[in-house]
Amino acid sequence: MNRVYNFSAGPSMLPLPVLEKAASELVCYGNSGMSVMEMSHRSPDYEAIIADGEAMFRRLMNIPDNYKVLFLQGGASTQFAAVPMNLIKRTGKADYIVSGQFSGKAYKEAQKLGYDVKCIASSKDDNFDHVPVIKREDIREDAAYLHICFNNTIYGTKFPYIPDTGDIPLVADMSSCILSEPIDVSKFGVIYAGAQKNMAPAGVTVVIVREDLLDYSEEKMPTMLEWKTQAENGSMYNTPPCYSIYMAKLVYEWLLSIGGLEEMKKRNEKKAKLLYDYLDSQNYYIAPVKKESRSMMNVTFVTGDADLDKKFASEASAAGLKNLKGHRSVGGMRASIYNAMPYEGVEKLVAFMKEFAENNPKA
Ligand SMILES: *Cc1c(COP(=O)(O)O)cnc(C)c1O
Repeated sequence: MNRVYNFSAGPSMLPLPVLEKAASELVCYGNSGMSVMEMSHRSPDYEAIIADGEAMFRRLMNIPDNYKVLFLQGGASTQFAAVPMNLIKRTGKADYIVSGQFSGKAYKEAQKLGYDVKCIASSKDDNFDHVPVIKREDIREDAAYLHICFNNTIYGTKFPYIPDTGDIPLVADMSSCILSEPIDVSKFGVIYAGAQKNMAPAGVTVVIVREDLLDYSEEKMPTMLEWKTQAENGSMYNTPPCYSIYMAKLVYEWLLSIGGLEEMKKRNEKKAKLLYDYLDSQNYYIAPVKKESRSMMNVTFVTGDADLDKKFASEASAAGLKNLKGHRSVGGMRASIYNAMPYEGVEKLVAFMKEFAENNPKA
């Protein structure tokens, strides 16, 4: 077996012990005589999987009792529509911060549905090289919620602060940073995340929603998108993404076994520091993101020469450092160093970067 270091932004690496555990149970789960993939979602074996998974997730994230946890389908992108449809009735309007492509999509989706939404801050004019800082007064007083994307996967930025929204529920897309460090859930009304970055294979989307926010859904909305219905049915209004939820449970188990999110944060900080310290110590590569907005999960850099960038990604790939090419919309390089990326992977990357810079002097 020859596993590579996979720097993909998503779907991305899963912890090896998780894959091995899944492999060992793939054909026959416990005494069930069948694979988790073949199980009824209403069977006792599966009900235990989803219940244990949720309990572990709650423990890891220290989720207060007045929040529901939902395991849904459709990816984070489906929540771009679900968020306004479930919440906007609170007051009839909502505010957004646009700090990258996904928050832009979330904003556009709400607009497309015909809602009164306002972008109160954007870093678009600066190529999204930082996260806008907003004050309480910038939010419309009667906004139903403020939507943010906590970690901007494509540009490699992250909110360095949790916006103070007062009584206005804060809604955060945490697809690419969930479980990377402890977070105070009580500061948020809703947190959602597609799983395929830091939590599980693609197929499941987690929504954490404060109970009092379940009462504002549109009368005319698809049942599948209604959080209240999903909460009342324990995420089993229809067949849930059973296998992805099972994989998420194995990831939660692994996180608990290493010491939870405090320990995960330490490891992630150490990896990010190694890479950013190197970037700051030289001038061959340029890291476009403003320091205070740097992401711990997605690290972007360029050589300043598109041909060299291309050469970098292809030679890195040949050296077993995969998927370092930046997002198709921004170019350059991006190293996604999620939970499952070991420290050694980042050490190898930095060594490769040094070597590449030596071997490819700029004109
Ligand atoms: C990947 C990503 C999305 C899109 O997720 P899907 O599950 O593919 O819909 C949305 N938001 C963020 C922050 C992401 O990283």
